[in-house]
Amino acid sequence: MSWQISPKVKDLLKKGEDLIGLDPEEAEFLLHLDIESRETYALMESANRISREQFGHKGENHLHIGINVEPCPFNCKFCSLTEAAGIFTRTIPFSNDDIINWATNAEAKNADALNIMTTGTYSFDRLLEVGKMLGEKVSTPLVANTRDINYKEGEQLLDAGFVGAYHAVRLGEGRDTPFKREKRIKTIEVIKDVGLSWMNCVEPVGPEHSIREIAELMILARDHGAIYSGVMRRINFPGSPFEPFGMITEREMARMVAVSRLVMGAVPRAHCLHEPSSLSLIAGGNLFFPEVGASPRDSEADTGKGRGKSIEECRQIFRETGWNPDLPSNCFEAASAIGITAEKNSTRAALSQH
Ligand code: SF4
Repeated sequence: MSWQISPKVKDLLKKGEDLIGLDPEEAEFLLHLDIESRETYALMESANRISREQFGHKGENHLHIGINVEPCPFNCKFCSLTEAAGIFTRTIPFSNDDIINWATNAEAKNADALNIMTTGTYSFDRLLEVGKMLGEKVSTPLVANTRDINYKEGEQLLDAGFVGAYHAVRLGEGRDTPFKREKRIKTIEVIKDVGLSWMNCVEPVGPEHSIREIAELMILARDHGAIYSGVMRRINFPGSPFEPFGMITEREMARMVAVSRLVMGAVPRAHCLHEPSSLSLIAGGNLFFPEVGASPRDSEADTGKGRGKSIEECRQIFRETGWNPDLPSNCFEAASAIGITAEKNSTRAALSQH
């Protein structure tokens, strides 16, 4: 067997390493690579190298705190917190003490952000109260993960102490959810216009999604300037309507994480993946979401007692793969602080010519 990789793949990896970003067709081509091929391992090596250089070996832990369990009438097909799933038949609001304990414990363990997630009909005013309450207890950056918002609501999030918002156009948006893609994009624009940092992920990926649909969302994230945007695979909760399709493997997710890393070019400050997996940490990923409280992937009310990985577990996976969770986060710093500089880019370009 030759040690050479195909010239086309070599050219695309060089483009990725130069942080130029990839076109949709180029991303699709790489997403189609044989998982066993030398080209796929070269792809993951390129993504790994640029992330370690660009992010300075920082491993990011952004704790997901789902602050309410509630049978949600929006019935997104991939979500376990729906009326249709029938797993949760009553509202379980976590107490202020629960939320504060999760947050202070996370801060003590050097978490880099707290992602506060609500279900689709949760009171927006209550979310603002939680933001204000946490702002008095912790200094860890707060990121909201809630429904579509308008400009005024975006400003209210800022006033309540949130510095960022996670919001994604999901795979199958409008098909597997009742939401319009245009409205989701409008919210992303609102988030950025009011001065919140926009966080994203290509999600929830399942075997039934077309490569084109996946590539398009990677490009959308890059073109709208996501702070981070990696890949989350869909987890099938018991009885999920997607059970017949199965789930993608961690290895397949690692290949997607690598492609999305090259697509993102110089734009991101980190590269996320979910659920946590060491394979993606050698393929360009460097951001985990440990989890407590409600999760749309779990049948346990508190995913910290179910599927959710703890901060300790995530810290250990980072250490095993050569990432340092104790360095300061890159996500909330000025862009110049994280190595996206002309000098580094030119060094990288020179290196990639060898
Ligand atoms: S994803 Fe959000 S809006 Fe959709 S059903 Fe689940 S909680 Fe409701």
